[in-house]
Amino acid sequence: MHLDSRQTDRAVGAVLGAAAGDALGVPYEFGTRPFETPAQMLGGGLGGLAPGQWSDDTEMAAVILRVAASGADLRGEEALEQVAQGFLGWYRDDPPDVGIQTRQLLSEAARLPGPAAPALRRLGAELHERTGRTAGNGSLMRTSPVVLAHLGDPAAIADAARAVSTLTHHDPVAGDACVLWCLAIDHAVRTGELDVRASLSYVDAAYWSPLLDEAERHEPSHWSRTNGWVVAALQGAWSAVSRADSLPDGLQRAVAGGGDTDTVAAIAGALLGARFGGSNVPFAWRRLLHGWPGLRSRDLAALAVLAVRGGRPDPDGWPLAERLTSYQGSSSVLVPHPDDDGVLLGAVGALRPGVAQAVVSLCRLGAAEAPLAGVAPEDHAEVWVVDKEDANNDLRSVVSDAAEAVRTLRAEGKTVFLHCVHAHTRTPVVAAAYGALVTGGSEREALRRVQAVLPSGRHPRESIAAVLQD
Ligand SMILES: [Mg+2]
Repeated sequence: MHLDSRQTDRAVGAVLGAAAGDALGVPYEFGTRPFETPAQMLGGGLGGLAPGQWSDDTEMAAVILRVAASGADLRGEEALEQVAQGFLGWYRDDPPDVGIQTRQLLSEAARLPGPAAPALRRLGAELHERTGRTAGNGSLMRTSPVVLAHLGDPAAIADAARAVSTLTHHDPVAGDACVLWCLAIDHAVRTGELDVRASLSYVDAAYWSPLLDEAERHEPSHWSRTNGWVVAALQGAWSAVSRADSLPDGLQRAVAGGGDTDTVAAIAGALLGARFGGSNVPFAWRRLLHGWPGLRSRDLAALAVLAVRGGRPDPDGWPLAERLTSYQGSSSVLVPHPDDDGVLLGAVGALRPGVAQAVVSLCRLGAAEAPLAGVAPEDHAEVWVVDKEDANNDLRSVVSDAAEAVRTLRAEGKTVFLHCVHAHTRTPVVAAAYGALVTGGSEREALRRVQAVLPSGRHPRESIAAVLQD
């Protein structure tokens, strides 16, 4: 389906929000570290991870996401075999943390010859027959990429979600949980609204409906001792999401609930991101996020965009093209910020190695342009601000986040280049928000100071500049 810029941002959010929840919950997983408010991406946890490193939740999601980004139909046996092989490849890479049930299946399947998907399904069925316990939260935690492959087609999403879940989780309740969550994500990406009950007809409604009611009556901590079970994990996640007024707020609620904190927050983050957009994941978190198989935030975003586009880049070649040709002819003029000469303002034409020690980009960039050569990946902020009316999910929060990114990088002693495509609207608006942070004055006054030195910014799009305060 064709997506507008807000829907694309929310599709990215379904993946980025889950990864952020995972990394935010890692330090506190099963009480490995006492919870403090607010939760931070400190690393540690059961796998001894680095700060901002995601765990098995996002590692396994990345396997599915890469297959989805190839344009594959996740209901087909060929794609399911690719996912199963991807799980085995991940397992062979010796991940620091693997769920008990998943480890049992993958270690056995890794020793068998022949196709991996049928082997995993057979082993899963045998495990279920032996123990009756194959409804851990491990298939729900990784399910969001399934939505992107089939966005806007609920029947296909339901079939694909069950098929991918069943590779490791035989119990139908695990598959139903994935279906319910995926359809809520699909609805949120398309409409920007939360409605987890819209698709109860695809599952056993008599079973799930009272569970959702219960989730809305209690805080996430109600399930702290049971949320390793897929049903309790979904309830804890829905409790957090239904109470949240932003993505960071929802993730904090999910992690504060305790127990399997990274997984509940990853599950919650998928739906929160689908509701609020990837642009609602703060730069402070996006710059830290990373993990197997050697990916960072921008890689997850690029894969998510490809997945919703059926594996094809947009007419500009984004996000696969090395450079975006539509930016040719952009000015190379640089202007120091009137309130802080350690910040340079300009257009994308001035983006060249050595321009500054850190970069804040307010437009899309080609694969070879970010991070800028010589700039560490965590020092190149890419903030999605769309220079069109009604094209941003939350323009105010994204302008504030970009201004905070400049302030953070400056506080670390780095010179910063702040730019968009032509420095017409986005650059002066964010520069004004930053100027107000530095001086404590009004954003409107800061805009006038910026415009006095940056001629290209004298007539910004009013619908964007309107977010600045007097
Ligand atoms: Mg985990």
